[in-house]
Amino acid sequence: MTGIPLNDLMKQLTEVMQDSCSQLPQNRTPAMVYALAEGAADIHDGGVTNLMPSLPPTKEIACAAGCDHCCHMPVVTEAITVLRLAHYIRTTFSPEAIDALRARISTRQAQLLPLDSKARRHFRKACPLLEDRQCIAYEARPLICRSFNSFDAEACRTEILEKADDFYMEGYPIPFEVGGALTRGMVSGLSRAGYRDAQLDLAAALGVALDRDDAAEAWLAGEDIFANSLVA
Ligand code: SF4
Repeated sequence: MTGIPLNDLMKQLTEVMQDSCSQLPQNRTPAMVYALAEGAADIHDGGVTNLMPSLPPTKEIACAAGCDHCCHMPVVTEAITVLRLAHYIRTTFSPEAIDALRARISTRQAQLLPLDSKARRHFRKACPLLEDRQCIAYEARPLICRSFNSFDAEACRTEILEKADDFYMEGYPIPFEVGGALTRGMVSGLSRAGYRDAQLDLAAALGVALDRDDAAEAWLAGEDIFANSLVA
């Protein structure tokens, strides 16, 4: 991935994702949905790893296991990522763990739903997938969770948990660039395929996808199952 201007590389990533997602009507199956989301995650992680030697961070990245400040913000993600995440949870979690997760999602929704859109954006509670300061679905986490990073963990704590307002966090830009390029490709490819891959509140959409065993089939059939999970 070296030798090509970064903008051109990002355009290529967008096109790869766009072309993959636009193939969905030829294989309208849950397995294809999960493969698309998994492919995006793999391209993201592989892309960042490959770019790092030629475009290294200008400072040390502060993120480390057990640092969970950023997991206390609302996560905005896409439908196919949520469907893959729900599939991952169904196939790897115990029934008790799924029940506990659904209970945490319900509690969060009860706190969030009465709020206006600004207060929702600044809502600061642990993501329902956070346990003991670790993501329990790390392998299947959304692109934005894969991208987010910071050069200053204390700044994260202050801005995210204390001030709880809009903020800019200085971090390594490459993961954000790669995540943004893939998300753009996902949205436009799915749009070409006839799907509206809107921006969804992760917890709300995951609750929907876990409530329905046929969530992927219903979404593929054009049912607007995430209508109540849209981010304003
Ligand atoms: S999905 Fe995982 S990484 Fe993302 S906010 Fe939730 S706990 Fe954190």
